[in-house]
Amino acid sequence: MHSRLTVLSGPSGVGKSTVVAELRRSSPQIWQSISVTTRPPRPGEVDGRDYFFVDDAGFDRLIADGAMLEWARLYGRHRYGTPRGPVEEKLKEGVPCLLEIDVAGARQVRRAAPDARLVFLAPPSWEELVRRLTGRGTEPPEVVARRLAVAKQELAAAGEFDVTLVNTSVATVCRRLVALMVQ
Ligand code: 5GP
Repeated sequence: MHSRLTVLSGPSGVGKSTVVAELRRSSPQIWQSISVTTRPPRPGEVDGRDYFFVDDAGFDRLIADGAMLEWARLYGRHRYGTPRGPVEEKLKEGVPCLLEIDVAGARQVRRAAPDARLVFLAPPSWEELVRRLTGRGTEPPEVVARRLAVAKQELAAAGEFDVTLVNTSVATVCRRLVALMVQ
């Protein structure tokens, strides 16, 4: 039997969080890891539901304690990581687990858990990704430019993944993901 651990990754702006939100609603049999982050909460985000929000010292402690399955610093700023304990517990119970993390984190999971299944969520086209990354309209141009550069690098990583799902529609991606995870 393949590992019950699935990692969903892909370039920023591809729609990972929409897919994950839909899965949370439609597929409660899939357990989703809650990450730890040093980023401050956005309005409406709840500690322990969206993320565990910690300060830098708290994050350092978790790393020092070996409590992180993987972690990464995004855009040279805040750190994000997956707490190891809850994932190991769920896997022991045979529960399908999903991590929605960045590409650097996915690589670390590959090393830590070689039988994890790595799923890459790809945009229908590069033009569509550019549209989504610029369409948010809230960030200054240099931030968007940096995002596009990172997205290009992240897209190039698709070949390292076991499966690529093209995000044509949220419903289709969710159906395929559930089919992969729940067998
Ligand atoms: P946001 O700040 O918008 O909530 O998330 C930004 C990015 O952080 C997303 O692309 C998401 O995949 C990534 N991310 C969230 N949690 C984790 C984590 O635990 N580990 C890693 N490596 N990346 C994460």
